[in-house]
Order: sequence, then C-alpha cells, then structure tokens
Amino acid sequence: MPEELLDLVVVATMKCPKCVPTMELVWDTRDLPYTYKGETTLISAVTGDFCPGCEEAVLDMAESARVSAAMLDFNKQVNASIVDHGLRHTLVRQV
Ligand SMILES: [Zn+2]
Repeated sequence: MPEELLDLVVVATMKCPKCVPTMELVWDTRDLPYTYKGETTLISAVTGDFCPGCEEAVLDMAESARVSAAMLDFNKQVNASIVDHGLRHTLVRQV
C-alpha cells in the first residue's frame, strides 16, 4: 500500500496502520529518534499521535513540516562531516 494511503487509513481510524486493529494511538509529546547514514539524533518535543505498539507516529501538517526540516538539517550535518572525513583522508594520502 502506498504511504499516502496508509496515512489516510490512520486519519480515518486513529489506529496504527501496522498494528490495526489492536492499537489505539495516544496523543503525546516525545523526543523522536532519527537515524541517517548510521548517525542518530533526537528531534525534541514532537507532538502527535503515537502508537504504543510500535514506533509509528502520526503528526499534523505543522509538526511534520518541523520534523522534516529537522531531519533535512541533520542530513546536511551528517553529509558535511562525511565530506570532512573524505578531505582529511585525501590530505593524509598526499603527505
Ligand atoms: Zn503500531
């Protein structure tokens, strides 16, 4: 099932698409762990509907935009640090 359809199912039922029909979502504010290329960060104080059965979270438009922006920022940081490592490696080889 495409991601957009899964979101619609969640909105219609307020139940987790992975745990339906056993899990009711819980409105909560949490720190959301996010991993990119092996590096992990915490996106702080994310408010939305969380599934008690798995890691699934359903966020409203504003909150999901904020979380996406935080993830993109983190991706940039990770990519920048990978470029750093690459440069250092090149310098070492030149010496
Ligand atoms: Zn779930």
